[in-house]
Amino acid sequence: MPLISSTKMLQTARREKYAIPAFNVHTLEMLQAVVEAAVETDSPLIIQTTVGTVKHLGPDYIAHAAKTAADRTDLPMALHLDHCTDFPTIIQCIRAGYTSVMIDASMFPFEENVKQTCKVMEIAQASGVNVEAELGKVGGVEDDIVVDERDALLADPEECALFIERTDVTTLAPAIGTAHGIYKGTPNIDFERIARIADRVEVPLVLHGGSGIPAEQIHQAVALGMAKVNIATELRIAFSDAIKGVFTEHPAENDPRKYMVPAKEAVKQLAMEKMRLCGSVGKAGVAR
Ligand SMILES: [Zn+2]
Repeated sequence: MPLISSTKMLQTARREKYAIPAFNVHTLEMLQAVVEAAVETDSPLIIQTTVGTVKHLGPDYIAHAAKTAADRTDLPMALHLDHCTDFPTIIQCIRAGYTSVMIDASMFPFEENVKQTCKVMEIAQASGVNVEAELGKVGGVEDDIVVDERDALLADPEECALFIERTDVTTLAPAIGTAHGIYKGTPNIDFERIARIADRVEVPLVLHGGSGIPAEQIHQAVALGMAKVNIATELRIAFSDAIKGVFTEHPAENDPRKYMVPAKEAVKQLAMEKMRLCGSVGKAGVAR
């Protein structure tokens, strides 16, 4: 089936208390790997790319690869633009065929965040595209957006409710203590805050910085209303480590197919593990 908007998929996930993992991919093999993982586990899927990857590969190349993958399955599948701060890139990606976009205006004051989100909502709704916005600041590094972890501000539940009322945005990523990258210790997730936000806001919530969060914490966050879990760093590490492993054993290897095959397999195995963790296994029919 064609790529679809992630709105309904995520609403169903929140209602049924599971989450759909959203995987950041950077190469064709990574994209194929997460699709194969979804097929094998009968899971709904969100493929996502950062703005950096859009610039690296080109939105049309990415969208065509994702469309080709989606057409070959009957799984509910969306292509999402992660953490975008500029309107022209959002338009470019929607035109290329992305079915979901994130406008990240979380670095601005509330009113400006509302204004920018409304602007994206207007164009996205006309195109049947899902929109994700962020409130508060997720710590760590995401491409070229750097937020000092100590200054990372968590989302205010009342502000979340007001933000949804003002913007009608269909998915919300509230900062609740997670960080991008790999955690040094156990993540300090504010579960009480997730509960208070979920109590006031009906839209599916998005957990950023999902790499390396212990299983128990993921389960708890999902049970409270997190319906999308972003996995980026862990996937890149699995992919790169597999390639490094090939070169350690065979330093003279020069056939990309030889080192891409184990890299793809590593990503696929990890993606399936995340699908089991999020509870999306077997939910393709439910999410459709
Ligand atoms: Zn993020």
